[in-house]
Amino acid sequence: MSQPPDLFDGESRALSVAKTIFNDAQADVDRHRNALGELITAYERLLRETRRLVRRSDREELEMNRLNQRLHDLATELEYRATHDSLTGVLNRAAIIGLSNQYLVKDSISLVVLDIDHFKRINDSFGHPIGDRVICGVVDRLQDVVSDSGQIGRVGGEEFTVLLPRMDGDAAAALAERLRMAVVEHDFGLPDGSRVSASFGVSWLPQGGGFDEAYTRADEALYAAKRAGRNQVVRAERLS
Ligand code: GH3
Ligand code: MG
Ligand code: MG
Repeated sequence: MSQPPDLFDGESRALSVAKTIFNDAQADVDRHRNALGELITAYERLLRETRRLVRRSDREELEMNRLNQRLHDLATELEYRATHDSLTGVLNRAAIIGLSNQYLVKDSISLVVLDIDHFKRINDSFGHPIGDRVICGVVDRLQDVVSDSGQIGRVGGEEFTVLLPRMDGDAAAALAERLRMAVVEHDFGLPDGSRVSASFGVSWLPQGGGFDEAYTRADEALYAAKRAGRNQVVRAERLS
């Protein structure tokens, strides 16, 4: 197998000649001068070549840093898309389930489940884009009230959950009541001036439970709220 060409072949040769002459006590001045000349040429080329390699390695390091940053940004974006709802920006169903179960390992949680009342009518009367705007508007109202006391998740078309870690049932029901008011008192600017309301179910679960249980109980309470006339909050603990 042939060896790859040595980038510094010429320099190695000039060095080897210079060494031989340096060690040769008989070598005359002309031979010393010639060897030194070769060494100077080789050394200058070595400097040029080294500078070129350093420049190239700087450029490649820069490009590698840029690609690393891009990879990091894409991973962050992918993670965001995998865990967030694209319309409203709140957590998606899988993410809110995961987060709830994570909290339940160490803490109790309250869960609020809400569904916009007669939403089909909004879609049918004013069209899907206005329906979408109402969904986003409801989320904004929820966010104003929930702030950093909990996490909002979109679990269905116009159905949301609010995860409230370490919050007891009384506080969660009071917060749900504030959410209800924030929605119904807001003017969503619908063409006929009508109001938007939502119904709420609230459940509390001790540490060690699972999301499914909290959700099922809050969902039953939500449907009790629907049956009782909508635009109200019902607590799972009050159902029997
Ligand atoms: P209820 O008071 O019983 O909840 O009545 P409702 O009309 O709201 O009934 P329901 O909750 O079953 O209606 C859900 C509707 O939401 C049906 C579906 O077309 C609509 N929807 C689901 N996702 C979206 C969405 O992303 N955008 C829009 N504009 N509409 C959606
Ligand atoms: Mg609805
Ligand atoms: Mg619904």
